[in-house]
Amino acid sequence: MQNLCVLGATGSIGLNTLDVVRRHPQKYNVVSLSAHSRVDTMFDLCVEFSPETVVMVDEYSAEQLKLKLIADDYHQIEVLAGAQALIKLASSSKVDSVMAAIVGASGLLPTLAAIKADKRVLLANKESLVTSGQIFIDALAASKAELLPIDSEHNAIFQSLPLDMQTRVGHGKIADYGISKILLTGSGGPFRETPLADFANITPEQACAHPNWDMGRKISVDSATMMNKGLELIEAKWLFNLDVDDIQVVLHPQSTIHSMVQYVDGSVIAQMGNPDMRTPIAHALAYPQRIDSGVEPFDFFNCKNFEFCAADFKRYPNLKLAIDACRQGQAACTALNAANEISVAAFLNEEIKFTEISVVNEVVMKHFSHFNVTTIDEVVDLDSQARALAHDTIKTLDVT
Ligand code: NAD
Ligand code: MG
Repeated sequence: MQNLCVLGATGSIGLNTLDVVRRHPQKYNVVSLSAHSRVDTMFDLCVEFSPETVVMVDEYSAEQLKLKLIADDYHQIEVLAGAQALIKLASSSKVDSVMAAIVGASGLLPTLAAIKADKRVLLANKESLVTSGQIFIDALAASKAELLPIDSEHNAIFQSLPLDMQTRVGHGKIADYGISKILLTGSGGPFRETPLADFANITPEQACAHPNWDMGRKISVDSATMMNKGLELIEAKWLFNLDVDDIQVVLHPQSTIHSMVQYVDGSVIAQMGNPDMRTPIAHALAYPQRIDSGVEPFDFFNCKNFEFCAADFKRYPNLKLAIDACRQGQAACTALNAANEISVAAFLNEEIKFTEISVVNEVVMKHFSHFNVTTIDEVVDLDSQARALAHDTIKTLDVT
């Protein structure tokens, strides 16, 4: 029996994780859950999975949940409030595995706590590696923790690596394993063929309607701008110990191949399947075994053509920014991620245009790219300075 903590339980990855878990009650025991403020969803999860402890980061939501649980006679579930409680949850001795599925840089400290506490960490929160890659990889090396990628591309790359390299996340050298390139695939999002002249009028609803994947709103916008692929490139750099030039972004609109590893002998090993996050989640939960995820088997006789092409930076300026940040170093990556969280939220609130997301991101990234960040305190400090500059930059743009 694996004892599980799900951080970000009410989100898209959290709910998909619990859907896999509910198919295997004899294998997984849900010890703890966290969410920001979705009380009703968390209440339903408490009723179904009977965790020992839950955290609502928002204090008012924690109070509401407590009242609801007591009214329905669930006195035994402990409800904690605040971001600090996430660290307690992630490092509890009652937990074997932590699903890190909080969105954004708020996932950073609890995920790091899970690594330091020697947990098996199922990493969906790519922002952890983007904002503080070296710190994470060093903490991993100094611990007995295990890191398994949930992001579908990184999970696909992981599955396509030699077994020995799978045990050396963050440290194995691709050249030692005869690998020549990592091919990071992306669909290109909903605006792959939209005329560039129409980009300024894209609405949040259009940006959140991804053609293949059903995801949270922030990552859906990131997929539309391809900032998501940029963040994934930085994530891949750290997970697989790569240089930027070892990674090639390949547009593959059908999202059937989830990424590939190219070897020096000309072999290309790809992982494919239906676009459903329950596959990488089930893979990481059961690793090195395999369990049923509930995903339909892929039907080769009923699939569309497989297409591949290069990404155009005029269409996806955020992808270019992320590649530049990855070359420039940690401060640029931390600043870009923070700016992007603010600019995407402003776009979703209809405060800025779709095309202004990259404008804000570029200003903030350039401002901080020569800073030096080596400790987690410096990361947290730069993250908040970058958010402040992003807010100021948004104020200087014309209101749409
Ligand atoms: P989501 O918005 O659907 O859910 C986010 C979860 O985090 C929710 O449970 C929410 O309550 C919680 N949360 C939000 N703000 C918080 C805060 N300040 N403090 C603590 N908790 C907070 O997001 P998602 O799509 O599930 O994505 C989660 C993570 O997984 C992201 O890092 C994303 O990049 C990554 N990811 C998601 C997908 C996907 O298919 N959704 C795929 C690959 C990677
Ligand atoms: Mg992904």
